[in-house]
Order: sequence, then structure tokens, then C-alpha cells
Amino acid sequence: MKRIIQDLNYNQIEELVLSLGEKRFRAKQLYNGIMQGKNISQISDISKAFKEKLLEQFEDSAIEIEQTFLSSDGTEKYLFRLADGNLIEGVLMRYKYGNTQCISTQVGCRMGCKFCASTLGGLIRNLTSGEILSQILKVNALQGGTVQKRQVTNLVLMGSGEPFDNYNEVITFLKNVSAEGGINISPRNISLSTCGLVDKINDFINEDIPLNLTISLHNTTDEERRRTMPIANKWSIAQILQACENYFKKTGRRYIFEYSLIHGENADKKHANELIALLKGKPCHVNLIRLNEVKERSLAAADEKSAQAFLATLQKGGISATLRRQIGSDIGGACGQLRAGYLNSKKTEE
Ligand code: SAH
Repeated sequence: MKRIIQDLNYNQIEELVLSLGEKRFRAKQLYNGIMQGKNISQISDISKAFKEKLLEQFEDSAIEIEQTFLSSDGTEKYLFRLADGNLIEGVLMRYKYGNTQCISTQVGCRMGCKFCASTLGGLIRNLTSGEILSQILKVNALQGGTVQKRQVTNLVLMGSGEPFDNYNEVITFLKNVSAEGGINISPRNISLSTCGLVDKINDFINEDIPLNLTISLHNTTDEERRRTMPIANKWSIAQILQACENYFKKTGRRYIFEYSLIHGENADKKHANELIALLKGKPCHVNLIRLNEVKERSLAAADEKSAQAFLATLQKGGISATLRRQIGSDIGGACGQLRAGYLNSKKTEE
């Protein structure tokens, strides 16, 4: 696979243009074309000879939308094909304030969380910053958006992969996606979710990127967390909470915990009370969601009534919390379900 041009920022595009003997203003045309979600061959205002030179070094397309699935609630789910043939997935969710795209940071994942479909086949490879960016450029274009009038307004790094296990590319991506003159999505409209790589959370504190930091907690004791999230063997809940405190001290920003309610595992009244004890007085918010059941996994979702009771207990205990509705569940809304399903159907076809 050749390099992909979406890995380059504006300055690097300008250097490239000059090194190929083109005039400086061509950089703007090339960059604009890329930001509009075009493949190199589709950019109309640069010459054929220049495009040919570019195509010697770069893939024409970083990513293509292989399939689109439309949910009854308006959610769209995409299966993307990368230049090397690997598949990743993403979701576009419609809200009153705009459209939120959920993006992937790796092909597969090596974190091994017991409830998650993304990690079923392990980690295949990291995505480059340009492959992460291209997911947005393609979907924005598909939705009729431009750079001036974006159709993708918010991002969540909650697709396949662990963003902090691909730290450098994800940081480059965050800088490039929020660059002025580009697609320019503000960090304030971006949420990054990590399963809790404490060393990387501490590194991230110094990056000065004011996004919404989200940590997947899902349990209240290290012992129980180790049963569902192997990363808990490396970092304790106490270490996570310490990193969160460091984050708040340095940035003044609140942080969010994801807590997926799993029947018989983490959704009892006892757990709600333990969660209150852990988080009371901390500048955080808890996002509850009932587990999205994954067919390859034996875990069951907590029922709606016990989820509501869990929420009420937290709120009575002084914890800021919300219960998110499950969206797009009729189209395999949970992480990695689509890709896993697609790969399985290909296997049975073969
Ligand atoms: N690797 C990152 C991003 C993962 S996906 C992380 O661990 O945070 C975003 C969220 O969905 C995480 O909180 C993850 O734990 C959760 N999740 C994964 N599979 C799920 C499922 N089947 N049901 C509910 N939540 C799930």
C-alpha cells in the first residue's frame, strides 16, 4: 500500500507541492479537494500531469464506503474499506444540535473486553491519522456537506479500537481535524473514550486539546473489572481516578465515565452504591447504557427497569448521571458488530 495524502497537514501539502515543482497556490486547491472528501483523481482544479505525479506516491483513495445501513431511528452505519482491503465501521447519529459521527481508530482491537465485538479477532493494525480523518471527510461528503457547511458537526472516538493504544496517530488526527481551513471540528465537539490506559491519560493531559475525555469504567472493584476488562490487570481503578484528578487539576475540565449495565455483573443496587462511594464529589458525569447484546458474547443486558433504578440511585447519591437510549440497535449499533457480522457472513459464503 502506498502512503495516503490525508496523512499530511496543510504545511506538509505545501512542501509536497513545491517539491513536485508546482506553484504554491496549488497547495490550497489540493488541500481543499481533499477536505471535500475527494479522491486525488476527482479533484477537478489541478492538472492531470500533477495528479499523475501524486498518484505515483499516494493511494488515490484512503477509504471507500463499502456499504451503508439505515436504521429506523435515522442512524446510519457504514462499513468502510481501506486501501489495503481491511474493513472498519462507523456510525452517524442525528441529534437536534447536529450530526455526531462515531469513528474507529484501529482495525480490530487488542484490549479484549468481554462485552465488546471489536476485539473478537484481536488487533489487525493501527489506522493512520489520515485514515481516521478520511472517515469523516467521506461521510460529510456523502451527506452533502462541504468544508464551509459541515454535515458532521460532532465526533466520538468510540468505534473500533482503543484510541490511546494508537496514541501518536490519534493525536495527529485530533490536530488535523481541528485545523483552521480544514474540516475544522472543534475539540469541544469531540469525545474520546479510553478503556483506561493511565500512562496515556497522563500524557494526554499535556497535549492541551480541550476535548471531552471519557473513560470506560463498567465496574466498581478491580476484582470485578478484571473479569470483564483485561486492562484492569495493568491499571487499577484508584490509578484511573488519580489520572482523572490530574486531568481536572491541569485542564479544569470535567470527565465522563461510561458504564454499560450488564445483568448479573455490574447492575445491582450494591454496584450503584459502590459507584457513588467511588465518585462522590468528583467533577465527573456518568453515562449509563444498557449493554448492547453481542451474539458472540454470552453477557445479557440489564433490563430497562433495573437500569432506571440504577440511574435513580446514582442521582439520589449526588452523582451526575444519564441513561443513554440505545440507538441503531436494529443495525448492529454496538462497537464492532457490523464488521464482525460482515466477516462472519463472508466466512460462511466461502
Ligand atoms: N476503546 C475505547 C472505545 C470503545 S467503544 C474504550 O474502551 O473506551 C465506546 C464504548 O462502548 C466503551 O465504553 C465500550 O466499553 C462500550 N462498549 C463496547 N461494547 C459494548 C456493548 N456491547 N454494549 C455496550 N457498550 C459497549
